[in-house]
Amino acid sequence: MSEPTRDELIHAALDAQQRAYAPYSNFPVGAAIRAASGKIYLGANVENASYSLTICAERVAASAAVTAGDRDFTAIAIVSRGGASPCGACRQFLAEFNPKLRVVMVDSEHRDHGFQSTLDALLPNRFDASKVGTPKRP
Ligand SMILES: [Zn+2]
Repeated sequence: MSEPTRDELIHAALDAQQRAYAPYSNFPVGAAIRAASGKIYLGANVENASYSLTICAERVAASAAVTAGDRDFTAIAIVSRGGASPCGACRQFLAEFNPKLRVVMVDSEHRDHGFQSTLDALLPNRFDASKVGTPKRP
């Protein structure tokens, strides 16, 4: 990923992080996912008093893209305190669309360029559609 592209994605994720609803954990996370169309979709974590209903920023961003008609993702930037890695559920969720997705994790307090990886590296030997058949996509 080129520097301008990565920087644009990181800045979008930082913007999304400002809108996180994280009153219980005080751990706001922002995500920005780029589709092959060139569009960028944002997500922030949204917590709930019942905790288990909380949804992560990565899945919010991917769901926004799918809702808009984009399913071909090329990269995602995730910003949080400490530059946390996506949780297992988000790794599985994102792998549905592109197991080779580039993932950039950035510490929002230091605004560095973060750690870059791929879903292949973050979630090897994952469960995928080959186990249940080809998904029927309208
Ligand atoms: Zn997650």
